[in-house]
Amino acid sequence: MKTIFEKSNGADGINLTDESLDFSFMNCNNLRLGKIGLPQIGELDVMRHYKELSDRNFCIEKGFYPLGSCTMKYNPKVNELLSTLEGFSSIHPLSDDESSQGALELMFNLQEALKKITGMDAVTLQPSAGAHGELTGMMIIKKYFETNGENRKKVIIPDSAHGTNPASAKMCGFDIVEIKSNSKGQVDIDELRSVLDADVAAIMMTNPNTLGIFEENVLEISDLMHKNGSLLYYDGANFNAIMGYTNPKLMGFDVVHLNLHKTMATPHGGGGPGAGPVAVVEKLRDFLPSPIIEFDGKKYSRNYCIKHSIGSVKSFYGNFGVLVRAYAYILMMGKNLKCASENAVLNANYLKEKLKRHYILPYDEPCMHEFVITGEKQKNNNGVSTLNIAKALMDENTHPPTVYFPLIVHEAIMIEPTESETKEKMDEFVDIMIKISKEAESNPEKIISAPHTTPVKRVDETSAARHPDLKYTEE
Ligand SMILES: *Cc1c(COP(=O)(O)O)cnc(C)c1O
Repeated sequence: MKTIFEKSNGADGINLTDESLDFSFMNCNNLRLGKIGLPQIGELDVMRHYKELSDRNFCIEKGFYPLGSCTMKYNPKVNELLSTLEGFSSIHPLSDDESSQGALELMFNLQEALKKITGMDAVTLQPSAGAHGELTGMMIIKKYFETNGENRKKVIIPDSAHGTNPASAKMCGFDIVEIKSNSKGQVDIDELRSVLDADVAAIMMTNPNTLGIFEENVLEISDLMHKNGSLLYYDGANFNAIMGYTNPKLMGFDVVHLNLHKTMATPHGGGGPGAGPVAVVEKLRDFLPSPIIEFDGKKYSRNYCIKHSIGSVKSFYGNFGVLVRAYAYILMMGKNLKCASENAVLNANYLKEKLKRHYILPYDEPCMHEFVITGEKQKNNNGVSTLNIAKALMDENTHPPTVYFPLIVHEAIMIEPTESETKEKMDEFVDIMIKISKEAESNPEKIISAPHTTPVKRVDETSAARHPDLKYTEE
């Protein structure tokens, strides 16, 4: 497909220079003298160009999107609509409390709802992503110890953790202590005991972890940590698995972040705005970023005077549009949030049981909302790697699952169907996975050279990420 610059044919789509305007008042040194270099093409051709481009995108509206850890579920469009209501979208972040009562009420109510869902005692809505929530949480933990006159330096992180966990702790100046998972894919308690000392500030855990497995010993772990004077951080990116069934407070955690753009109705991916609210137990309340939204029974207000606050982590109070979507979703679902988790877990177990007959399942345990299989059999028998399988799925109008993560599983294929898929759609996916596995034996070349139907075939993924070439230069 040609770029829009290459399609430029000199047509006068729109004329940006109005000759009748007098620019003599402007400093002529600031005026552009040469041509602006925009493509010239008719309006209809512009629309066709961008429609063709957008049709190349894959999205949940187009097909199955089982991208593990990312919770690519269907986000009801009504939440989109609500977040664009003029009263929400046109409000200025600097309006005073008096004229922003509705928006403040919404944020206050969302704080209360998230307190209920997490079991925690106080919430900040400020962080704008999961990783940003982690950073906020680790800053809170750091300041907590400093305020108590302790200088604890270490943070323990299991080897199955998402890469943002060690990155966030490191950014706060902590030293990372990695611990190995046991044969059940869970935190190894003996290994944990062996690294625990007075210098440990916290452990960062994800539960269910990134293998989709619930950490059975979480209560013993929180007991051990608290007896050591350490805190527990809960990476809540996998909250879709537990809503209404349990919560991080019951498991003994002190700080938790949620990914509203995974669990709570904001479309995820494409780098769009997200929200990573952080909830804490009572003793950490005074360390939250400001402002916190408060209600005195009559008026909603922003409280900027928080005793030991780590300061603001974002301008104003977070990505408000995402907060509106989340609040609308929570109200709409009510007690049925529990059903969302129930169905997410049921769907994942259904797929896992079907697929384990054709792909190796390294941890054959009941899973939560996601699970990890591997392409090791296909690789060893026929030289077809997990990457090849992922590419072959693209030829079947299916988004590939997350691959090569978590790092502790070779040739990992991490599948998260979410609650929003039907049994029929999952059966279709199973059939496709079986077809690919069979083809890996009968015609491995076809899988190895996939994809065959996409506009772009194989890209150098490392260069694409590290040296993106985003600028069009005329030959
Ligand atoms: C997605 C994810 C994160 C990071 O969240 P972002 O919003 O992408 O920054 C952290 N941990 C886990 C387990 C995740 O799945």
